[in-house]
Amino acid sequence: MFERLRERFEGIIGFLRKKGKLSQKDVDSALRQIRLALLEGDVHYKVVKEILSKVRERALSQDVLSSISPADQVLKILYEEILEVMSGEGSPRLSFAHEPPSLYMLVGLQGSGKTTTAVKIANLLKREGRRSVLVAADVKRPAAREQLQILAGKIGCQVVGGKTPLDAVSRGISSAKELGCDVVIVDSAGRLHVDEEMLSELEELGKRFSFQEVLLVIDSMMGQEALKVGRAFMEAIDLSGVILTKLDGDARGGAALSVTHVLGKPIKFIGTGEKIDDIEPFHPDRIVSRILGMGDVATLVEKISASIDEEKAKELSKRVKRAEFTMEDMLEYLRQMRDMGPLDQILEMIPGFLKIRRKIGDVSVGEKELKHIEAIILSMTPEERRRPEIIKGSRKRRIAKGSGTSVQLVNQVLKQYNEVKNMLKRLSKPGARMKLPFF
Ligand code: GDP
Repeated sequence: MFERLRERFEGIIGFLRKKGKLSQKDVDSALRQIRLALLEGDVHYKVVKEILSKVRERALSQDVLSSISPADQVLKILYEEILEVMSGEGSPRLSFAHEPPSLYMLVGLQGSGKTTTAVKIANLLKREGRRSVLVAADVKRPAAREQLQILAGKIGCQVVGGKTPLDAVSRGISSAKELGCDVVIVDSAGRLHVDEEMLSELEELGKRFSFQEVLLVIDSMMGQEALKVGRAFMEAIDLSGVILTKLDGDARGGAALSVTHVLGKPIKFIGTGEKIDDIEPFHPDRIVSRILGMGDVATLVEKISASIDEEKAKELSKRVKRAEFTMEDMLEYLRQMRDMGPLDQILEMIPGFLKIRRKIGDVSVGEKELKHIEAIILSMTPEERRRPEIIKGSRKRRIAKGSGTSVQLVNQVLKQYNEVKNMLKRLSKPGARMKLPFF
């Protein structure tokens, strides 16, 4: 996710760090590189301009230039300004009607991922104890309804159709009332391109029903076209938010980052794969940390907690509080993660992981990286796993040899362990927010 952008930022930050004290010329040069990185990453030029002008103004202040670590200051400013642009107005959470059922509708072009996302959301709600009825409002394409039925069948949700979209939604609401369901999720008709018929259908639905959420589903591989599509939908119906799908692909992702700013609507979820579980609530702060190479430990911890049993989770939080997070714990989590889905997505949330990956060479799958880390940890003695601080020169050489890796890699695993441990410690403090390693 956003790999290219991330690599570019890593380079720029490295460039600034090497400089130590920064001159105006250094800042200018970094700003030029940032501009290029954002444009290459497909961020909309107006958004780039806005980010750049704010970063420039703040970065050139005397406080920053004369500070002890100007590179970190610039990084902090960059983080805050990108975050500002990505945050949008309105709540990033789903809202619910006072009286159920709450009515949601997904809109977007055909193929953007509406049907899949409708079921993913129903599944998320189910986990919170809320039941949904799904409405197949694309009455002209029987295949669309069939697909919704197949997916909904996997999570035991009822699918309702109708003669017209209005009829389908009315039936959906009646069914939800009859069955005592909390939410009605409408999978609206999509077309390959924005067309008048589709938009007027949505307009009509918007006039007739009071939707709690109208969510625009955007395929993040679409690039800048997504922004035009977004504007067209916005003219037909009042949107409450955006869902970005296919962020697991190799999309540059910049257009997706621009969407909040251009439409003024928050991104509520991101789709990260084809499976029903591949959806995450959108946290702009976490994504910006990921892009700026700071990792995303908060999401990592959530994923881990969701997949390990409660007892283990409690034990983890106790151990973290006592700062007893050992190499064995790290190995345990890495193994758990392997069972949690695409390893790549998980590992890239670990700060500094990109560097390890590059050293290893093969970037196709995360499995290989895990094997190396696993081999390194397994080559440690139990004492070393519990107290990695005792691992110095000769121990490092022994571990590298035993695991068939290199001292350099052993060093990186140790560093990564420390970073994760420190961040977990900070996160476990009451009321702690995800803090970045630099601030
Ligand atoms: P719709 O026409 O808008 O209803 O789109 P679909 O839900 O049928 O999705 C189109 C294709 O995109 C299907 O093959 C889905 O499996 C796939 N898809 C949807 N969301 C994601 C995602 O987040 N990641 C990936 N990789 N594929 C997705």
